[in-house]
Amino acid sequence: MKEQLIAGKTIDSWKQKHPLLKKVVDTEEVFWANPKYKSYEQAMKNIGITEDDVKDAEERLKRFAPYLERVFPETQQSNGIIESPLVEIHSMKQCLRDRYEVDMIGRLLLKCDNELPIAGSIKARGGIYEVLKHAEELAIKHNLLSTEEDYGVIDSQAFRTFFSRYAIAVGSTGNLGLSIGIISAKIGFKVTVHMSADAKQWKKDLLRSKGVAVIEYTSDYSKAVEEGRRQSETNKNSYFIDDENSINLFLGYAVAAYRLKRQLEDMDITIDENHPLYVYLPCGVGGGPGGVAFGLKLVFKNHVHCFFAEPTHSPCMLIGLMTELHDQVSVQDFGIDNITEADGLAVGRASGFVGKTLEELISGVYTIDDDALYILLKDLADTENIYLEPSALAGMLGPVTLIKEQAAGELEDQGLVHIVWATGGSLVPKEIMEAYYKKGAIL
Ligand SMILES: *Cc1c(COP(=O)(O)O)cnc(C)c1O
Repeated sequence: MKEQLIAGKTIDSWKQKHPLLKKVVDTEEVFWANPKYKSYEQAMKNIGITEDDVKDAEERLKRFAPYLERVFPETQQSNGIIESPLVEIHSMKQCLRDRYEVDMIGRLLLKCDNELPIAGSIKARGGIYEVLKHAEELAIKHNLLSTEEDYGVIDSQAFRTFFSRYAIAVGSTGNLGLSIGIISAKIGFKVTVHMSADAKQWKKDLLRSKGVAVIEYTSDYSKAVEEGRRQSETNKNSYFIDDENSINLFLGYAVAAYRLKRQLEDMDITIDENHPLYVYLPCGVGGGPGGVAFGLKLVFKNHVHCFFAEPTHSPCMLIGLMTELHDQVSVQDFGIDNITEADGLAVGRASGFVGKTLEELISGVYTIDDDALYILLKDLADTENIYLEPSALAGMLGPVTLIKEQAAGELEDQGLVHIVWATGGSLVPKEIMEAYYKKGAIL
């Protein structure tokens, strides 16, 4: 039998070229420092997206705030802005020190996107943003709205009837479908979510209860996206939200950075050359962590270092970046099964758009075993009373991994600030969260 080739090379020759790949293929936990990392100024020369694009997204979200405040009362206390708290987690830091026996240098903060209103995950940033942008474009095009107006008017029967002539479709492992389904149904769109086999039953049930059409697949995320895209293309009034290539999703995520900057200032935390910021972001297809990381680089430039975290069984971004093949390669090509309990991260092929945009900005990628996700889930619940879904714990190993891996010299600085990006959890039903917790207790 002829050996399968990946971009013209055998798996063995890929492993020879990138020795770390052997461990990746064996689904061992690894840390990869990006050899293509460049200074912010250098890296930005090759990137087409600008600060103005992110500012434009931020302004659009401000325009929609009066609408969101009306239709989602949980956003009233933030005046219609979808944002999450930033908290210091001292007890968890102590716990990590004891469990992993590392000197936990620096402050440890948690960005609680699990508490984001409406969708309970990081998808409340990009997913909601892209649907709002599409709605705005349609309404303006049909002379129903101007950017000067109070967008509260969108909460009306006339607008819902207008939007019901249009459809939205998306492929998802669960959370993107939740966010896009909830906001689209609220606005009045006909919405179809194509769910991969990883998607949890409760997410499908919740969506159906809100009038969203859910189509289930027995295959993985890439297939659900492909099928969703294909079906959407048959209807000229249907708009497909393309998680693998969407600049809009990316910009919606990126807005987080400006808000984080203000939160750090409010906490009197300085970020500069003596106080570098290290951020750890769970990564699926890459849009969420990529968008946030891009925004953070715009704001903090060379003083921020962003790391992506992936399950050992779904290291698609790592393989894409390492081989520089991006979306031309899947984890399955290397014999990795893409089966993980971290449903939000169960993606076998990364976004080529995100990989190429960030290939010189991202500091590194590490992988984490599923068991560790559950152990950290329980630890965080015990120490801080914060409950996250398994995917969202992937970032928690970041500070430990980095401190272990990095030559101690480089991290000696006590001014260091770590932010673990907690990407989801607040919508998980109580009994399912209890089962997660118990699993962590057994392990
Ligand atoms: C989607 C998701 C991620 C990763 O976002 P991508 O855009 O898929 O990379 C991380 N954590 C959770 C909980 C998610 O739902």
